[in-house]
Amino acid sequence: MSNTKYIFVTGGVTSSLGKGIIAASLAKLLQSQKFSVTIQKFDPYLNVDPGTLNPYEHGECYVTDDGAETDLDLGHYERFLNVRTSQANNVTTGRIYQSVIEKERRGEFLGKTVQVVPHITNEIKERILLLGQTNQYDIIITEIGGTVGDIESLPYIEAVRQLIYELGDNNAMTIHLTLIPFLSAARELKTKPTQHSVKTLMESGIKADVLVCRTEHNLSEDLRKKLALFCNVKYEAVIQSIDVDTIYDVPIKMQQEKLDQVVLNRLNLKPLELSDLKQWKRFLKKYKNPKANIKIGLVGKYIELQDSYKSIREAFIHAGAENEVNVEVVNIHSEYLNERNLLEKLNQIDGILVAPGFGERGVEGKIKSIEYVRKNKIPFFGICLGMQMAVIEYCRNELGFLKANSTEMIPETKFPVIDLMESQKNIINKGGTMRLGSWECVLSSDSLVKKIYEKKSISERHRHRYEFNEKYKNDVFVKGFTPTGINPETGLIEIIELNNHPWFIGVQFHPEYRSTVSNPHPLFVSFVNACLNFSIKKK
Ligand code: GLN
Repeated sequence: MSNTKYIFVTGGVTSSLGKGIIAASLAKLLQSQKFSVTIQKFDPYLNVDPGTLNPYEHGECYVTDDGAETDLDLGHYERFLNVRTSQANNVTTGRIYQSVIEKERRGEFLGKTVQVVPHITNEIKERILLLGQTNQYDIIITEIGGTVGDIESLPYIEAVRQLIYELGDNNAMTIHLTLIPFLSAARELKTKPTQHSVKTLMESGIKADVLVCRTEHNLSEDLRKKLALFCNVKYEAVIQSIDVDTIYDVPIKMQQEKLDQVVLNRLNLKPLELSDLKQWKRFLKKYKNPKANIKIGLVGKYIELQDSYKSIREAFIHAGAENEVNVEVVNIHSEYLNERNLLEKLNQIDGILVAPGFGERGVEGKIKSIEYVRKNKIPFFGICLGMQMAVIEYCRNELGFLKANSTEMIPETKFPVIDLMESQKNIINKGGTMRLGSWECVLSSDSLVKKIYEKKSISERHRHRYEFNEKYKNDVFVKGFTPTGINPETGLIEIIELNNHPWFIGVQFHPEYRSTVSNPHPLFVSFVNACLNFSIKKK
């Protein structure tokens, strides 16, 4: 077995406490002390991956370089750590069962009865240890999705128990994230739910080494002592995680609470270098002290749910800090955008980003918003479906091809300027079958994108089935509407730009997945800058 140390993060009391952010913050602190760290997430649902889940169900689907459709927490890991994740970093119960059942069909269990224990738990253990076998990491943080006590989580908790036993106390530990609710009537913080949750964990044979307590109020010394005594953890291992304005404050808070030191002590590790989080603090300073405010309209159909466009919102935070401006993202529901309310919704806006998406709902609103910003020379950024809609808008309103559409919306459209990719035509299954992951794209020499990237060739992540229909190249790319990024192998059009406009770019890929705190995405940085210039000119 390798020397990799394992930290298991479980959650108690309620979901949505931010296990992913705590895991990413701890990883950040350890990484800044020169440990090589990665994070993996195990999700207890039966979908093989979240690619088939509606954003209303599960928030954004995050895509990795190797084309895995994953949980949005992987986005936090990449944004915090600036390292790339892969399929191995996110495993669901569906994938575990699929693999065990495939092995059974191949006869690999040699006539044995296949059971949750040991076959499912063994498969979970194998997957947990997979990244460690590369000998690339000193520490692997494993987040177990869900809440202890859930029926779905049981095989994971059992697998973790076995692994701690097998790896030994020096090599594995647990962090339990819990909620300390404040009862306003009694004006008191309550520890009982945490006591019960730790007890549930104990019933499965797992002792919590560290308690991270999510709270709206400071934990007193007495309360920390009580938690330590009743939950069987060391006093210094009771960590307060108080609500903060931004998730990017969490690593700083965790450092103040000495979470990293408690973890390193517990694992018998000495920091390789002391961390001052200098770069991180510089980012926070810029983010919190903007010199201007701009409003960017995010036009999409899943706007009600904050998490649906998570990576886009975070990319705006990174790009805003880089430009030292506060980007106020204004939610614009594409389904309810029409001729009558267009002006009222868009006249205060310094730029719009038209979001990715699937299906017909809300597309006409997206097209309307693009027409408005194109004609009024307001910065426009279209991502995936947003780019496709920009092509359709231009065809209809500038070139007079009134029937222009995507076959995704109207299969029998007379002018299918956006059409299903050839490689997609015989695919029946929905899961994991889109054009996914990173693909190369060559940029045209005198394009705006080439100036922005300062490169001839780029690689970006994808998640789509439709593309610009090559047949219409000569009809569409006439008066200053230009393809400026092409996939060198297939000729697929990855980027379109409009000349004679301050900033009008549509991309078939998803730049938002690559934006991190230490590497804000150049397209977002440039777009925010264009919006800032627009807002200054407007005054
Ligand atoms: N629905 C479009 C396609 O599949 C766009 C996908 C997206 O925006 N991610 O091509």
